[in-house]
This record gives sequence, structure tokens and C-alpha cells, in this order.
Amino acid sequence: MHSEFDIIRQYFTRPVTKATLGVGDDAALITASIEKELVIAVDTLVSGHHFFADADPRKLGYKALAVNLSDMAAMGANPCWATLSLTVPKKLIQTNKAWLDEFSAGFFELANIYQIELIGGDTTRGPLNICVQIIGEVEKGKAMLRSGAKPDDDIWVSGYLGDAALALAHINENIILDSDELMHCESALNTPIARVELGRQLINLAHSAIDISDGLIADLGHIVECSNVAATINLNEIACSSILKKYLPQPIAVRCLLAGGDDYELCFTASEGKHKEIEELSLKSAIPLTRIGKIKPGKGLTIFNTDSTAITLETKGYDHFGT
Ligand code: ADP
Ligand code: MG
Repeated sequence: MHSEFDIIRQYFTRPVTKATLGVGDDAALITASIEKELVIAVDTLVSGHHFFADADPRKLGYKALAVNLSDMAAMGANPCWATLSLTVPKKLIQTNKAWLDEFSAGFFELANIYQIELIGGDTTRGPLNICVQIIGEVEKGKAMLRSGAKPDDDIWVSGYLGDAALALAHINENIILDSDELMHCESALNTPIARVELGRQLINLAHSAIDISDGLIADLGHIVECSNVAATINLNEIACSSILKKYLPQPIAVRCLLAGGDDYELCFTASEGKHKEIEELSLKSAIPLTRIGKIKPGKGLTIFNTDSTAITLETKGYDHFGT
């Protein structure tokens, strides 16, 4: 049986080069660069809430880091270091001997892509809970904030929205996808791609940005509130996959698109004059970037349907403490 220290040594200790000191002491050491600001975010995944108790550990390790990378992307930051606070039930690692192997393999698979160093954490026994903190860097004063949107800005989104929520709707038996559709949507749900490179390239183009983790309406709503502006978006302009499109205008598909969550795409605003450069960036990076609406003076978020009627949604998005 593994002790806490065996687990840390065997699964979570890797050599570091960017950090001065990694796993093994009371704390890690990093040197902050003079021209840069440190960018710090943390996200927790709770069993039975953010994932199913029997979820594939490799995908879980991957996703726990991916959701944090998405926050770095939204700020325009370059992710450098991570810490991992892992709470695992003793029974889980006794009955599934490969769990830690798989979990750490998924985590490092993604960490290696971005050369992110795991520099510390905590390992405890208890109900499964995964908390990853990420530390990145951004050029001083360049981070994209939620508060930077200006009237007349175009509103853009990256990628296609709603597929992850569509997978969840299938799992909850609110819609029936065929097996190819489910495979595609499940990969959006379980192994999301954070738009880190895109975020880096947007720092000189966008006025504001957010990553879509709680659904477009909720997250664009944060930009609108923090920037003290209004926004209008058009339902038929929101980029979605051919799979989701097939189920429109069923209310469940509209909900997935507007309020689904777990997209991990970027929503950002930029002045109209930047639209050519942003379209070129889309071509060069092979990431769909779509203009979905406009920032206006005033307050609130309005969604126009294809027939120009305004839509009001029952749920705005995911709120852990909402009703
Ligand atoms: P302390 O008792 O001082 O909290 P720990 O025994 O919890 O120290 O941790 C020992 C070392 O292992 C520390 O450097 C800590 O950051 C690291 N560590 C513990 N758990 C993890 C983990 N899951 N992933 C990465 N590093 C970890
Ligand atoms: Mg500890």
C-alpha cells in the first residue's frame, strides 16, 4: 500500500527547470521576471458535481489542468507552473490500482504540451476532489480583463459552443445522440482544448476577454457587468458544430448553445477596426473565430432570435449557489 509520501514521489515528482525549487520541500520557489506580471488562478473539480464518480482517471487528470489553462488563455497569459491538491478515497486507489498512474499520465500529457512544471501540492485522503492552481506570466499591463469592453466593440467567440453540454444532455437522457455524435460531444466534455495560443495572440487585439466555462450568456454577462456596457447577440450567428445545428431550434439545443457551460472557448471583444486582423488570425491558427454581436452603451444582454424577437432564458448558466 502506498503512503502519502510514496504517492508524491512516484506520481507527482518531476524535474523542474523553470522553477528554482519544485516538489519536495515545504514550498516551491519561482523567480518572477521583471517585465512580467504573474497570473494566478485555481479551479476545483468535485466528484459527483463536476464529474461522475467513476470517470476515466486519465481524462480527469487532463481536464483538471485544461480548465485552469483556459483561465490563463482568457487573460492572455503563458502558463508556467502548477500545484495540485488531490484528495482521494483510500478505497478508490485500493480497488483501482491504475488510478493514480492514469490520473498523473493525463495531467502530465497536457502539462508537457505547454512545458508546465508541477511544483507542489497536497495529497490527502477523503472524498475525491481535485484542485489545480496555475501560475502564468503576462507582459506587464497586457492582461485581458473582463472590464475592458467598449461600446461599438464587436463580440467574438472562438470554436463551436454547446457540444460539451449536448453530451451531458445525452447522458441525462434529455436528448438522444447517435454514437458518432456522442463521441464528438463527449470529447468536448472530457478533454476540452484550452485556447492558450489564441489568448496570447489576442493581447494586442482584444479589449476584453473571458473563457466560457459557465455558458455564453453567463460569461458574456460578466463582461457586460464588469465593463458597464450593454451587449446584443444574434442566436443564428453563434458558431456551433453541425451536430448541434441539427438539433436547433429544439429548446434543449438552444440551451446548450447559450447556457450550457464547459465550452472552454474564449469570448472576447475588439474594436471593429481589428476585424480583418482577427479573421487573418483565425485562418492562420485554424481556429474558427466568429463575430456574434455588438457591445453598446447601457446595461444588460439581449439575444435576438432569427425572427428578430428577443429571447429570455430561464437559466442564465451554471451558478453553484444559484437556485
Ligand atoms: P507539508 O507537510 O509541508 O504540507 P507535504 O508532505 O504535504 O508537505 O508535501 C511534501 C512535498 O510534496 C511538498 O513540496 C508538496 O508541495 C509536494 N506535494 C504534495 N502533494 C503533491 C501533489 N499531489 N502534487 C505535487 N506535489 C505535491
Ligand atoms: Mg501538505
